[in-house]
Amino acid sequence: MKYISTRSKIKPIDSAEAILKGIADDGGLFVPESIPKVSSEELEKMLKMRYEQRAAYILGKFLTDYTEDELSEYAELAYNWFDVNTRIPMAILVRSAENQEAPFGILELWHGPTSAFKDVALQMLPRLMTGALKKTGETREILILVATSGDTGKAALAGFADIPQTKVMVFYPDGGVSKIQRLQMVTQTGNNVNVTAVKGNFDDAQTGVKKIFADEKIREELDKAGVKLSSANSINWGRLVPQIVYYFSAYLEFVRTGKMKIGDLMNVSVPTGNFGNILAAYYARKMGLPINKLICASNINHVLTDFFQTGVYNRRREFHKTITPSMDILISSNLERLLFHETGGDFKQVKKFMTELTAKGQYKVDAKIKKNLDKVFFADYADEAETKDIIKKLYGSFKYPIDTHTAVALGVAVKYRRKTKDTLPMVVASTASPYKFTGAVLDALGQSAAGADDFAQLDILNKFTGRPIPKNLDNLKDAKILHEDVCEKDEMAERVIAFAKK
Ligand SMILES: *Cc1c(COP(=O)(O)O)cnc(C)c1O
Repeated sequence: MKYISTRSKIKPIDSAEAILKGIADDGGLFVPESIPKVSSEELEKMLKMRYEQRAAYILGKFLTDYTEDELSEYAELAYNWFDVNTRIPMAILVRSAENQEAPFGILELWHGPTSAFKDVALQMLPRLMTGALKKTGETREILILVATSGDTGKAALAGFADIPQTKVMVFYPDGGVSKIQRLQMVTQTGNNVNVTAVKGNFDDAQTGVKKIFADEKIREELDKAGVKLSSANSINWGRLVPQIVYYFSAYLEFVRTGKMKIGDLMNVSVPTGNFGNILAAYYARKMGLPINKLICASNINHVLTDFFQTGVYNRRREFHKTITPSMDILISSNLERLLFHETGGDFKQVKKFMTELTAKGQYKVDAKIKKNLDKVFFADYADEAETKDIIKKLYGSFKYPIDTHTAVALGVAVKYRRKTKDTLPMVVASTASPYKFTGAVLDALGQSAAGADDFAQLDILNKFTGRPIPKNLDNLKDAKILHEDVCEKDEMAERVIAFAKK
């Protein structure tokens, strides 16, 4: 399997090279030349596999320049944190057995080392990169640059810390992440890590990082210092492909528990920010996993809802800070890959969209693309009050606490069912532990946390729900702060160069 760019005709490259580069030289994203298929016989076979084996199997279809042994080894190392039968746990909620309502499967993607779903990808990516360094004979050091709206940063730091021949540098919006998210990052140990706050919002940080990647001069300067830039953001193919696996796993979990037979359809609802997670579900669907609708759930920064409903992507609007900060995004980078596939690989058209987005802040897809998108996607959003209401109602019915992002996905999934009367089983991607957004969750549950700091809030939620506090969060109380750098938007490049040369 070879990889090409979304923006121009390039010589197709191997996955190892695509993973090392992160982004194409023309500014486009790497996409596979074709989409591999999975048959129902293969689904049957995967039913008996552990999660690690499923991961190696699916990855093997896309990363054909890696050996089976390599991928199995990486998967065993990356996913040794799943305890029960090494499957990603899915809480299956059925309102009542009598009315036969199809279940919601809350896919708990947050049992990894940082309690965020991004661990699933970011525990795998460093291993894919190490393998890629070997394969390509690359002797330079790789510098991973990350712009984060909260969770990616810590997950990248945890994934890359002390991995030989790599460095990792994370920029986060100053004041734009929760106290716990910040502490998770600024207490990161390892002699190859840097964490810097940027005065601005997430889009500023992401734009800054993109500019650095596109800057020939910076690349030359780093090259002289023996350093090669790469990304761990969800634009990296090596970030995206591990996420495809858990949609297969969720499907098989519905089958294993007798809620569906192989071949039956399910729906998937995803709380969406940069469009990586839901794009992985789109690939799973294209591979032949029986998925009916992909439900793109947004918060009040609902650029994507408007895009899917009208065909116009318009980022020129007010930016809101919400209780779902990982979705506070106005430019969803991975949408570019969707546009590439939906235009039938028309890179000229994709490039035009992206140029218009930069120049005018908007673009519009034609009626044919819009119609095709309608067949696959449903999009809506949940506002702050609806998000809290869902958390409260779900806890009332099932004593099951969910975080705010998961609540947005569930809220929109419920809207979808009401609107369409489509009651197929529904996977809801649960992207963070409720303990990562404790303040908002307590507020939703009507538990007063007035005056309590973030750590006292963990204890209050623990007392109220009886659910254990993830160790990695509990331990932050006593962890030492190691990173206190802050910079202006236009200082990011010099910070990168300084760290690279360190
Ligand atoms: C990153 C993140 C999202 C958004 O995922 P994308 O792949 O960027 O669409 C949603 N919820 C949480 C908790 C996240 O960390």
